[in-house]
Amino acid sequence: MTVHFPFQNSYSALPDSFFARVAPTPVAAPRLIKLNRPLAVQLGLDPDVLETPEGAEILAGKTVPAGADPIAMAYAGHQFGQFVPQLGDGRAVLLGEVIDKDGIRRDIQLKGSGPTPFSRRGDGRAALGPVLREYIVSEAMFALGIPTTRSLAAVVTGEHVIRETALPGAVLTRVASSHIRVGTFQFFAVRRDTDAIRRLADHVIARHYPELLGAARPYHALLSGVVARQADLVARWLLVGFIHGVMNTDNSSISGETIDYGPCAFMDSYNPAQVFSSIDEMGRYAYANQPRIALWNLTRLAECLLPLFSDDQEKAVADAQDILGAFSETFSDAYQAGLRKKVGLFTERDGDDALIQDLLDAMAKNQADFTLTFRKLGDAAGNPAADDARAQFMDPAAFDEWARRWHERTALEPQSAAERQAAMHAVNPIFIPRNHRIEAVIQAAVNDNNYAPFEKLVKVLAKPFDDQPDYAAYADPPLPDQRVLQTFCGT
Ligand code: AMP
Ligand code: MG
Repeated sequence: MTVHFPFQNSYSALPDSFFARVAPTPVAAPRLIKLNRPLAVQLGLDPDVLETPEGAEILAGKTVPAGADPIAMAYAGHQFGQFVPQLGDGRAVLLGEVIDKDGIRRDIQLKGSGPTPFSRRGDGRAALGPVLREYIVSEAMFALGIPTTRSLAAVVTGEHVIRETALPGAVLTRVASSHIRVGTFQFFAVRRDTDAIRRLADHVIARHYPELLGAARPYHALLSGVVARQADLVARWLLVGFIHGVMNTDNSSISGETIDYGPCAFMDSYNPAQVFSSIDEMGRYAYANQPRIALWNLTRLAECLLPLFSDDQEKAVADAQDILGAFSETFSDAYQAGLRKKVGLFTERDGDDALIQDLLDAMAKNQADFTLTFRKLGDAAGNPAADDARAQFMDPAAFDEWARRWHERTALEPQSAAERQAAMHAVNPIFIPRNHRIEAVIQAAVNDNNYAPFEKLVKVLAKPFDDQPDYAAYADPPLPDQRVLQTFCGT
């Protein structure tokens, strides 16, 4: 049996300045840890063949499959506000693209596959912990219905990587509708290569915004499209308590997918100022700052597109400002609509926004668990005697006062209690990838070569909205001594 990838590559046909051709660096003893079988099928790959030793060699970058055209993509980026004119794939190689079962073009990329011309001082490798973390969280995001890159496979390499200590090395196979970032545009903008910017924009429109082909002002429409998708994406993050952690422009995808799961985390108790990342000392990427940062990143994208807007610089800037001006409303509409659903409101009335804000304020003050408060509120919608939501509040009386107003408000709608509960449970997950669970999975894998906890967590998180009584403990917040206070990039 040979592994067949039905590659149809398009990015590697762009001009040479877009990438560096580089093959993955072979590793000692690849072993498959996890294959995402449903995703393999979605991509038109045979999961049984991928699970053979030959498959593991490909997924570890030891052999390059037929039809691949391996490249490291060039990009720049603002990291914590500081511009770096050249970053690029320093430890990832794009094997190629396939058209999936839905007709969507998908990149297949190996992350941790060895050095590239963009590695700077890095070793081009990834440690097992961050690979498992990305696998778990990206697949959890997918199950939550949030646009994201996916994880096709994780392999260990049989080699060690040196970080603070020697750690097992691993490779993640990442799947994305593309790996084009705000930083990809910045790479050409800083080089004043307008032809390349146009070429990239045309590629992006054809690939991600085909409805804009033939539009009167396609590049304006492209910026509008990215603004809309990013606004929607960040709203969805906030609605599940997700903190990306490193929203640099090189980690901001043009397709509107969540990309680059480094120090990301879901918050347990609700705190708008929450930061987990060890390197985010100023809280630039704190939970509630994310919409503002998304707009900041989009403004950097707009700057790159100005030469395509108009030869008249003033006019180009005015057009860009106009388009960026839509971000705020698109974000708020998506966020407020999402919140209304989370508290089980079917209609819109005056006072709803204040009612919801009062709940959030009380949650923050009372360190209520974000996920469980909304989930258990769904139970209370079905049965007013259910008091698990109340139990999330340090001062339960604060909840009672709010719940009285909420019951009054929901009574104005014709939906039955059962209908409301079902609608709320469909948007409020019970299972999220909690930090302490991820840490425990990583410890078991790295220290004891035990992947059973990883498998179990991935399985539970595949159905985040379903009560899974056998796994009830996975819904629990950490005990005080299990709390994870910091997350790391792990590069
Ligand atoms: P990230 O923090 O993962 O978004 O990475 C930022 C930049 O650093 C990208 O250009 C990466 O390719 C590069 N990078 C991160 N880790 C490594 C590594 N171990 N070796 C080489 N380059 C790396
Ligand atoms: Mg990155």
